[in-house]
Amino acid sequence: MKTKILVANRGEIAIRIIRAIQELNCEAVAVYETPDNEAPHIRIANEAIWLGDGPRCDYLNIPKIITAAKRTGAKAIHPGYGFLAENPDFAKACENNDIIFIGPSSKTITDLGNKVIARKIMSEAGIPMVPGTDNLPHGDEGVEMALAFGEKYKYPIMLKATCGGGGRGIRLIENADQMKEEIPVARSEAKAAFDDDRVYLEKVVVEPKHVEVQVIADKAGKTVHLGTRDCSIQRRNQKLVEIAPSMIGDTKLLETICDTAVKAAEASNYFNAGTVEFLIDKEFNFYFMEINTRVQVEHTVTEMITGIDIVRTQIKLALGKSLSCSQEDVKMRGHAIEMRINAEDPKADFMPEGGKTVSVYRSPGGYGVRLDGFVYQGFTIPEVYDSLLVKLTVHGFSWNETVDRLRRCLTNFVISGPKTTIPFYLNIANEPDFLAGNFDTSYLDKHPELLDYDDNTNEASKLANLIAEIHHRGHNPYAA
Ligand code: ADP
Ligand code: ADP
Ligand code: MG
Repeated sequence: MKTKILVANRGEIAIRIIRAIQELNCEAVAVYETPDNEAPHIRIANEAIWLGDGPRCDYLNIPKIITAAKRTGAKAIHPGYGFLAENPDFAKACENNDIIFIGPSSKTITDLGNKVIARKIMSEAGIPMVPGTDNLPHGDEGVEMALAFGEKYKYPIMLKATCGGGGRGIRLIENADQMKEEIPVARSEAKAAFDDDRVYLEKVVVEPKHVEVQVIADKAGKTVHLGTRDCSIQRRNQKLVEIAPSMIGDTKLLETICDTAVKAAEASNYFNAGTVEFLIDKEFNFYFMEINTRVQVEHTVTEMITGIDIVRTQIKLALGKSLSCSQEDVKMRGHAIEMRINAEDPKADFMPEGGKTVSVYRSPGGYGVRLDGFVYQGFTIPEVYDSLLVKLTVHGFSWNETVDRLRRCLTNFVISGPKTTIPFYLNIANEPDFLAGNFDTSYLDKHPELLDYDDNTNEASKLANLIAEIHHRGHNPYAA
């Protein structure tokens, strides 16, 4: 009988993982909630288990997912990203039920999911990081500690949820009064979002670059890195555009950062694929930020430049294979850019466009182009999940070639029905600072003109072309 692997996720990442499972000649078990009844991950899997009405709560229901795995005889579970991916109780439940959790141990997830513990481990290992506090004690004591930290390091200061993630639970505090006000608010928000009200402070790195390193490690502790990604183009601390490798010209520095990432992974007994995140300041000092104990949305750019299938590797490592390569075997080639095409209206403060039906979907293709999506023409986007529709990843020999390819793809991409981030991204692909590799986390704030496009003209002209073409040539799928 073929090995079965359950995919505890939805959307593009479920499909990405199911493909890897099937390529390994294993069978994929999908799970879903009612709002996802029409979702394609259910159809491409070898079998699918309905978890309940949801929304969201069933994808987060550990007993139901463990039961689904047992009922179908799944040997392993891939959690994807989001949902239960970084929930140590879920990894623990798998361990207790003799199901292989495709990721690190529950102990590692517990330690690294707590930013304060992670910082302690890294500081003991001599990894550079920005000054920060322990968890702030409750009540006046915590406020006093916070004010003293603000006094010492000068405002602004970052107030962060200890167990935060996904760009949420991070606030910029400008002065002492705001600090006093925001600590209790941050606590109650953290409690609601992460079921943990602990918060701590970090010195702010002013207009940093976000550079992260993909690492993979086998059970014996052999760890290699797959180079860097720049994820500085963010909105509200959430990534929109990711690039591999980082555009920092100083290759020596990037090598040091990669070696530090391997050291950080080793310090936490890291197993499987993970991402070590760093901030880089204007003087090119780098600081550890956190380790994400899962596959990242942006893993595609690393795959494009290294040729290594990270999800396949995750599965093989979890099933007990050792890394057959050493650091010298990992070769990087060219540049890759990923853009997260979201159903959002950038002009309306990126308001999600969920609930709408995709009336036309025509994607680009060709050399160096990769699409990881899940929507199709006629698909109604459930309102209750995130707004990611498809990740466009392009690869090229040089940076210029990669950007030229990106521009061509964005120009040809037609998604009608919901508004999307495509026209906004097309402006980025033509923007001089972006073209010069000159961006940090303040990039979008500094370029309000990126919102300057005409939705209607853009979409209407694409649609008019499409209709004319269909009229002349029938449903030609190669037009893009
Ligand atoms: P999450 O777990 O939500 O991903 P991170 O700690 O990785 O949170 O931070 C997310 C983003 O927030 C970073 O990429 C960066 O843009 C910003 N950020 C976090 N900490 C700092 C800091 N100390 N100084 C400046 N920016 C920060
Ligand atoms: P495969 O999955 O293709 O059969 P192996 O089982 O030999 O590969 O290796 C397991 C993992 O080790 C691969 O998925 C890949 O991540 C990594 N790997 C193996 N060989 C190399 C190599 N020459 N260069 C880079 N990475 C490699
Ligand atoms: Mg992060």
